[in-house]
Amino acid sequence: MLGAVNPPVFENSLFTFATAEELGEALKDEDERYVYWRGTNPTVDLAQRKLAALERGERAKCFGSGMGAISATVSSLVSAGDHVLVLGAVYGPTTQFLRYLEKFGVTHTHVDDLAGGDSAIRASTRLLYFESPSYMAFQVVDIAEVTGWARERGLVTVMDNTWSTPLFQKPLTMGVDLVVHSLSKYVGGHSDLVGGVVVGPARLVRPLARTEYQLYGAAMSPHDAAKVIRGLRTLPVRMAAHQERGLAVAAFLDGHPAVRAVRHPGLPSHPGHALAVRQMTGFSSLFSLVLDTESREEVGAFLNRLRHFRIGVSWGGFESLVNAPALSTEESVRATMGIPVGLVRLSVGLEPADTLIKDLELALEALSATRY
Ligand code: PLP
Repeated sequence: MLGAVNPPVFENSLFTFATAEELGEALKDEDERYVYWRGTNPTVDLAQRKLAALERGERAKCFGSGMGAISATVSSLVSAGDHVLVLGAVYGPTTQFLRYLEKFGVTHTHVDDLAGGDSAIRASTRLLYFESPSYMAFQVVDIAEVTGWARERGLVTVMDNTWSTPLFQKPLTMGVDLVVHSLSKYVGGHSDLVGGVVVGPARLVRPLARTEYQLYGAAMSPHDAAKVIRGLRTLPVRMAAHQERGLAVAAFLDGHPAVRAVRHPGLPSHPGHALAVRQMTGFSSLFSLVLDTESREEVGAFLNRLRHFRIGVSWGGFESLVNAPALSTEESVRATMGIPVGLVRLSVGLEPADTLIKDLELALEALSATRY
């Protein structure tokens, strides 16, 4: 419009009609027509079309957060009495949401692998939910194998693809029914947006856009949609830089005497590396390492010594971030989740890799110095 290089942001909460009859017609199909922003908005629509194309899906619906997308998607697929299988480690609030659904008669079981799935599956199992690489553990799941297994058993599959972004991994092409993302991470890319999306066939996305999107009200704002569109424009260049810096930092840590393990699927030493190379076209820069310590205090001191990695939650922005779940997770919960005390999560940002490596090197030296 007017030669503008950026699409205009439609800020209006409502749209008016020339006649009462036209409004009546539009209200019959609020998912296709612009009536009220809690349902549809042209700027949000544009972001949705771009995300659907990139993820190779027929249709996308953007939400006010990743959890908005996840809770609406899961709710749309289950009813009272249904059972959900969760494969591998998934984002904590996703599990919390599944626990919340118990009060509506929806149960779930966590399994580590498909053999576990075979033992846990019930006649009422409706949905298989997973992430790849998995949350915090960064284990790579064979997506085609999992979706084949689920299809044979009549289950719908939902996968959280946030780690890879729709650029580096296309789960819908490997048989996943619905893909969800937090757009708050790499897609937004500037730590100034919270959003989510679900992508898949119209037959699954349209019903949830009409019902859960409208009724739960986790609508995406047009301003956030404009930030999503901006983020998508630079996603390939940012992800190339994140990948390069993330791998350089991970390679430095791999084999360091003060580090027990590095969990980055892009490292050849990672058990899922060959599979990752087969089903992904690149690696993001969120990964974990396990410090050689059993002391929470030492983990805290390590974090406090870092100067360029800032301490905080979330990931995917310009700035490098560090977090250690043992410092904020109850001992019993940590043990059941298999999180070692020394687990540290890094989100490698866009600062020069040598600056970040030096930062880690000094903090690791100090860790060793306090012990020997
Ligand atoms: N999925 C993953 C893997 C995440 O890490 C997060 C947030 O950290 C979410 C979903 C939820 O996204 P949001 O914070 O946008 O609700």
